[in-house]
Amino acid sequence: MEINAKLAILERMVALYDEFVETFDLACEKYCAHCCTANVTMTTLEGYLVVDHLIQTGQLDQVAPILQKAHPDRFVPQLSINRMADICARDGDLPDETIDPDAGPCPVLIDQACPFYAVRPFGCRCMVSARNCGEIGYADMDPFILTVNDVFLQHLEHVDAQGYTGNFVDIIQFLADAENRQNYVAGRLGAAPSGLVANQPVFVLMIPPEHRRRIQPLLDRMRAIQV
Ligand code: SF4
Ligand code: SF4
Repeated sequence: MEINAKLAILERMVALYDEFVETFDLACEKYCAHCCTANVTMTTLEGYLVVDHLIQTGQLDQVAPILQKAHPDRFVPQLSINRMADICARDGDLPDETIDPDAGPCPVLIDQACPFYAVRPFGCRCMVSARNCGEIGYADMDPFILTVNDVFLQHLEHVDAQGYTGNFVDIIQFLADAENRQNYVAGRLGAAPSGLVANQPVFVLMIPPEHRRRIQPLLDRMRAIQV
């Protein structure tokens, strides 16, 4: 699929998600950024949008300081979400993936605000809480939102099935390179380089039985998104 078609799908999925999440009473507000950590991950499609935004706004030189601030113990996934769902469906063993809660804030955060808010990855967008995380020490998320988040993440990976998933910083670093960007746009990426993992299509959706009926209308709308 051509890059603009994929970006159009991403835009429509984000709009659908925003519409969904607006139906919940949430504590999230501007300058509340406890959830902006060094452990955020994204796909190459989302990273392409961020890097394209940096290029269009003449800020590509911001990549070097972001990389300098990248935490060495940031979360680096060993599997994409679709691969994980696949392994779980076959009762396979998942690798030990540890997330260091002390990895610190996201390296792009400035004065508790995101400079790329409009194009932030879905992993940031779907982090919501009914109560202020700073006050209670964790995110208070409705279990149904967690299920919907997984399904959106799985579909986004599906749309970018020829791409990669990785930590926000590692994807930015990869796509800041003009040759990598060209190869990505041309659908010519090979095996995933160190620190990134290959995406794959959806084979099985991670929907617990108690949410199957409730999620169906949203799933129908998600599946209807075409360009
Ligand atoms: S998820 Fe938590 S930390 Fe993030 S904006 Fe919402 S309330 Fe604030
Ligand atoms: S990219 Fe933006 S929204 Fe996402 S974690 Fe970093 S500062 Fe927060």
